[in-house]
Amino acid sequence: MAKVLVVADIKEGVLKGSTVELLSKARAMGAEAAVVAIGSNIESLVPTLVEAGSDTQYIADDPGLALFSAGPFASCVVDAAKQSGADLVWFGFSEGGKAVAPRVAAQLDAACASEITDVTLEGGCIEIVRPAITNKVMQRVKVNTPRLAAVVRAGAFEATEGIGGTENVVKLTPPAPDLRAVIKELVSDASGDIDLTDADVVVSVGRGAKNQAGVDLVKELANDLNAGFGASRAMVDGGFLAHNKQVGQTGKIVAPSLYIAVGISGAIQHLAGMTGSKVILAVNKDPEAPIFNVADYGIVGDLFEVVPILREEIQKV
Ligand code: FAD
Repeated sequence: MAKVLVVADIKEGVLKGSTVELLSKARAMGAEAAVVAIGSNIESLVPTLVEAGSDTQYIADDPGLALFSAGPFASCVVDAAKQSGADLVWFGFSEGGKAVAPRVAAQLDAACASEITDVTLEGGCIEIVRPAITNKVMQRVKVNTPRLAAVVRAGAFEATEGIGGTENVVKLTPPAPDLRAVIKELVSDASGDIDLTDADVVVSVGRGAKNQAGVDLVKELANDLNAGFGASRAMVDGGFLAHNKQVGQTGKIVAPSLYIAVGISGAIQHLAGMTGSKVILAVNKDPEAPIFNVADYGIVGDLFEVVPILREEIQKV
């Protein structure tokens, strides 16, 4: 039986949905599913981790782990991977996951892969699927090591609520502090906006918005929906929004329940960041815009006319 270790994605004491997705996939594969949770004051998460389907919960709970730091976090994951005998170590798609996965792979002498969308383990042979050439092709890769540390693409696996596992808590010894890098403080996004990768609904604005008034109009739509507010690279390069709002190949990858693209053409680099969304609505005045090829719903029209109508309708609900 395959053994999977899921690295819990915890932000400000709250378990992110990606952890449930990864545990659901492990259980759907019929694998033994362990989870490692790292932080300070996180033992209260154990019941949630059990409910999400884990059979063993490795807990590294220490005040020294309150702030994310790749070196010590990697040591905890390696410890849990060795104790659980995991063949597959999975990370959610986050900056932390991307920083820790290669360190873990190196220490376990395992292969490392990013952005995987599927994985199988049969007869000791691991195979992964991941996008290549800006999502133009999906490549199937045979891994030639017995272990793999992989970052899973956002939304690649379906979450199944309430699978239920077994409570079996193993406390890990906190690692020695990393003397090469000491994290003093983590500063959150000062805007107070909803984090794009956490949002259930994302509204993104593109060059069609033309100016600050257009950006503000689309932002109001995002506010009405309590949605994350994103942008195409054109708007980030144009200085309208910060880089942490950029969706796409060189920005964030999002997979919300609803993605609304307003005045965005649908360049392949933008699509690379949002086609995992469950439902896509596009507003564009050009009926030939490529965004309509991936949209479930499309409104052909001028956003300066369409967005106020959408807002009016939403406010009635
Ligand atoms: P445009 O392509 O200019 O599209 C504007 C759209 O608005 C058009 O379709 C137009 O019909 C519509 N429009 C105009 N006026 C209105 C109106 N009044 N009402 C309704 N619709 C209107 N891009 C990203 O987004 N994310 C990335 O991560 C990213 N990474 C990149 C990496 C590389 C290496 C490269 C080369 C490019 C990358 N890009 C990325 C840029 C990408 O190629 C496009 O240039 C960019 O996505 C275009 O942004 P846009 O759709 O807002 O603008």
